[in-house]
Amino acid sequence: METVDFRRHGHELVEWIADYLEHVERYPVLSRAKPGDIAAALPASAPEEGEPFGAIMADFERVLVPGLTHWNHPGFLAYFAITASPPGILAEFLSAALNQQAMLWRTSPASTELEAVSLGWLRQLIGLPPAFEGVIYDTASISTMHALLAAREAAVDQVRVCGLAGRDLPALRVYCSEQAHSSIDKGVIAIGLGHQSLRRIPVDSAYRMRPDALRDSIAEDRAAGRLPIAVVATVGTTSTTSVDPVAEVAGVCEKEGLWLHVDAAYAGVAAMLPSHAHILDGAGRADSLVVNPHKWLFAPVDISVLYCRRMDVLRSAFSLTPEHILQTADAGPGGPGDSVKNLMDTGVQLGRRFRSLKLWMILRSFGARSIRERLSEHIRLAQVFASWVDAHPDFERLAPVPFSVVCFRWNPADRTLPPADLDAANERLLDLVNQTGDVFLSHTKLREGVALRLAIGHMDTTERHIKRALDLLVEKTREL
Ligand code: PLP
Repeated sequence: METVDFRRHGHELVEWIADYLEHVERYPVLSRAKPGDIAAALPASAPEEGEPFGAIMADFERVLVPGLTHWNHPGFLAYFAITASPPGILAEFLSAALNQQAMLWRTSPASTELEAVSLGWLRQLIGLPPAFEGVIYDTASISTMHALLAAREAAVDQVRVCGLAGRDLPALRVYCSEQAHSSIDKGVIAIGLGHQSLRRIPVDSAYRMRPDALRDSIAEDRAAGRLPIAVVATVGTTSTTSVDPVAEVAGVCEKEGLWLHVDAAYAGVAAMLPSHAHILDGAGRADSLVVNPHKWLFAPVDISVLYCRRMDVLRSAFSLTPEHILQTADAGPGGPGDSVKNLMDTGVQLGRRFRSLKLWMILRSFGARSIRERLSEHIRLAQVFASWVDAHPDFERLAPVPFSVVCFRWNPADRTLPPADLDAANERLLDLVNQTGDVFLSHTKLREGVALRLAIGHMDTTERHIKRALDLLVEKTREL
């Protein structure tokens, strides 16, 4: 593509994006594509000759757009709703053009240092102490895997060199609540502990980890000759957004000498609000914490931040100096002996893209005050929706609402439907509502059974959207 064409198509694309953002509500939130539709509409092989960009864009609109579920739609109220905000989108555009690869300080001084600065800003905003150093990964799953790997490095002598197999080692144990995210399961699997190393601790009536049960499990494991190494506490669990008692869990970890990782992937940013600063009480005593700007900080997917109070442990797990990258004779910034940090030393990946650019542009473009206002508004909207549910005789709320997610279900006023029928009816209701294309909600399984979940996280979601969700829910119950 010649520069002149790049310029033309670039302008056209910005127009397309602006129009998309402005009129996203003309699309159904949930794609109506059937499995295989998209693949069937595309050629089986790549073209031998290059094609005009106009033709590619035409196919993008004709074939791919109908296969999009619109996460950037204010009626997207499923899972954890998110926003790709305009400053974040522009930062992604720029980042692709710059193509920075910050494996070493010298391969991108700006990306390396902006990462440290912008993560310092975010750390201050959420009230973590300066002892926490941050590093950016793509997703919380990878952040958590690195945290568990650091825990393993700290607990098992010579693990970097000798690994775990063929050694006289006790079975290792990691603890999290019954409500913790599956990324912790994947983390223990990925780092070779085996899935059975993860013990899920029972929760209280508000879905929070029970520290007494945690203590008992650790004692039981020690008595059986197993080696506890880490606990993962969650601030904002995936189903109900419950908050584990982090300070109490930190006390257990300190006493037992265990690594404490806090999964605040979704809710951690809410600690910016004076009303919610308490959610990270005790997190300053953790060893690591993950928070995802791509969840509730208006950043396009993907960007996850791992804060670690013992980054030296992570570095000792990973730092390697391949000869082709950094010759031992290299002098100057980023060379051996120099104090600058090379980001390749803090994780599995060598290459890394310029993700801090979007965090920096978002923090500057919004400003902390506007971010706080938007988070507060989402929390207020969730309270409003919860109050409508509470006031409606045929709906019931199934969990507290500490942030921007409401768990509820349809349960007709006389409350006589058997559990299996209630579950089936709520699943059907969810389907009927989502088929309208106006909103998209998801579900989870709670003590009572199937729960519907309404999550607010898009910056353009207003009372109109959640009212539409309620109206549709009420209207569609007539078809049950
Ligand atoms: N932790 C929690 C509490 C989550 O809810 C999720 C995903 O929703 C994750 C971790 C995993 O996030 P990611 O998709 O960034 O790996």
